[in-house]
Amino acid sequence: MGVHEKSDYRGSGSALGHLRCRIGLIFKTQLSPNPSKKLKKNAPFPPHPPNLRPPPPPPPRTPPNCLPGRRPTLRLRIRRLLLPLLPIQAQDRHHRLRQLRPSSLSSQSKLKIAIIGFGNFGQFLAQTLTSQGHTLLAHSRSDYSSVAKTLNVSFFQDPHDLCEQHPDVVLLSTSILSFADVLRSVPLQSLRRNTLFADVLSVKEFPKNLFLQHLPPHFDVLCTHPMFGPESGKNGWAGLPFVFDKVRVGETPSRIERCEKFLRIFEDEGCRMVEMSCEEHDENAVETQFLTHTVGRMLALLDLKDTPINTKGYEVLRQLKANTCKDSFELYKGLFMYNKNATELLDRLDAAFDSLKKELFENLHDVLRKQLFESPPNGLGNQGKQ
Ligand code: NAP
Repeated sequence: MGVHEKSDYRGSGSALGHLRCRIGLIFKTQLSPNPSKKLKKNAPFPPHPPNLRPPPPPPPRTPPNCLPGRRPTLRLRIRRLLLPLLPIQAQDRHHRLRQLRPSSLSSQSKLKIAIIGFGNFGQFLAQTLTSQGHTLLAHSRSDYSSVAKTLNVSFFQDPHDLCEQHPDVVLLSTSILSFADVLRSVPLQSLRRNTLFADVLSVKEFPKNLFLQHLPPHFDVLCTHPMFGPESGKNGWAGLPFVFDKVRVGETPSRIERCEKFLRIFEDEGCRMVEMSCEEHDENAVETQFLTHTVGRMLALLDLKDTPINTKGYEVLRQLKANTCKDSFELYKGLFMYNKNATELLDRLDAAFDSLKKELFENLHDVLRKQLFESPPNGLGNQGKQ
């Protein structure tokens, strides 16, 4: 029985009483001559069955963080009981973990990551990456030297200089529309062989195909989409979806480990990790993302006013408009042009709007027809006849 389930223990009367009872049971079980016997509800200390010798104790198990020869399960079991009672929310817990991080992150788990495309999203990512202790380098079309300095990132105006730093990971965070040109402009010959290339584009099949066409086979490829941005992720990334597809990762342990370390960045922030093919991502994202952005952009064209009688639903619409229009129009164009499912979605949206209008206007016609043919022309009704 888990501690969250309803207690059957008489006399405990509270979570604390229940807990004491449970801890008592564990102590008893540990000291009992028959420790392998499972406890039943309301039968805390069952006697040995008559004429049966207690079974031999199970072979000692030593969890990785316990010394051999001790009874490791006692402490762990008490901790397991206590932890769920603490009213800590996911985000708070991650905040605490982050505070512990500098001492707990060993230098071996750190990566040297080069972000190419240091605009809105690149800078947003860099903040968390540096806070985790990774070494960050950046290059962009525009000069972001001063903002990079404030983020503890080394900025390189020349991509050759950046690549000569031999990053473990090259992370492309350029606009979807400029991705092909930017990828072609990376001086691959200056990088170490088998560098890991990753991207964060909001469409996935397009960068995957370009990576595979352009990069020699000794480079690894990881396509990702953090499905949040500076607005939705401003209070932390806990619970937010992170989609990834290990498109091509070499089989040597170091290459596998490098990819895992990169993914751990997002895992450690509490992201909901979703492994999915790039094609499947685009099929899903056309609704979760392109539709959302399209509705947000349409609402922006309507110029919705703040009124004294705003409803909750109306506020949601205004918020959607605000959130989607914070992203660049170039990003929105990319969502349309480089997701092959986007045209069909627009057609479906058109058809849905037409069918709704048709239903409304047909109703209106029925009412009008009734008025025209069944009511007297002067609108006086029965009175007019008198
Ligand atoms: P964006 O408008 O999509 O991209 C801006 C970035 O692209 C800047 O770094 C910009 O460089 C670069 N860029 C644009 N045109 C370029 C060109 N012709 N040549 C070289 N570089 C060019 O805005 P973003 O929000 O920063 O997004 C970056 C990437 O992250 C996009 O692929 C987007 O799909 C993805 N993403 C964004 C979000 C989000 O919430 N914003 C969330 C998930 C994924 P300069 O600034 O140096 O000009």
